[in-house]
Amino acid sequence: MGLTVLSGPSGVGKGTIVAAVRRLHPEVWVSVSVTTRAPRPGETDGVEYHFVDAEEFAHMVKVGDFVEHAMFAGHAYGTPRGPLEERVAAGAPCLLEIELQGARQVRSSMPQARFVFLAPPTWDELVRRLTGRGTESDEVIRRRLDRARIELAAETEFDEVIVNDDVTAAAARLVRLMTA
Ligand code: ADP
Ligand code: 5GP
Repeated sequence: MGLTVLSGPSGVGKGTIVAAVRRLHPEVWVSVSVTTRAPRPGETDGVEYHFVDAEEFAHMVKVGDFVEHAMFAGHAYGTPRGPLEERVAAGAPCLLEIELQGARQVRSSMPQARFVFLAPPTWDELVRRLTGRGTESDEVIRRRLDRARIELAAETEFDEVIVNDDVTAAAARLVRLMTA
């Protein structure tokens, strides 16, 4: 089946790689998640995420709107079911960019999917990227780095590992895996 799940620690460059895939490979369909976190400067509702409040998110969970959902660093994130099922049924190459708990849920519900882990070149480089992005407070960076240690330890659960040293090369490798 054409479903690929991309995971990896916060700051590794998942969003950057997904943006490159969208730009260079319009044939790949990228799921737009729902989240309760606030948009970062430059993010547009409906593009990077659907931004909702906690009440609306809870309602969507209740009515079964999500394929998977999880809490991450104090906010809820979920993958809408309808669009994904439609695109998978149509045979399109589909990409989910989600954290580890969500990836594990997809693995139990859709074990045929391909699971790809995006890894940083080094721990220090991960810290530099997350800090250098400049979008989170020190406290949020600390929570995300705590989670990053847990996510890095789960690398072996994935089918493939891509080291994000160069954005274009990593995006090309991801698309090659998706269409192999
Ligand atoms: P994530 O979505 O995994 O949290 P982002 O895509 O926001 O990560 O990237 C975190 C920071 O790292 C951004 O400032 C981004 O520009 C930078 N970055 C991403 N990929 C690379 C790379 N291959 N080399 C250097 N910097 C990168
Ligand atoms: P960010 O706030 O940096 O955009 O995302 C935080 C984390 O949530 C990242 O690891 C990202 O992959 C993950 N994420 C984004 N969308 C979803 C989703 O729909 N479900 C899950 N489980 N995680 C998501």
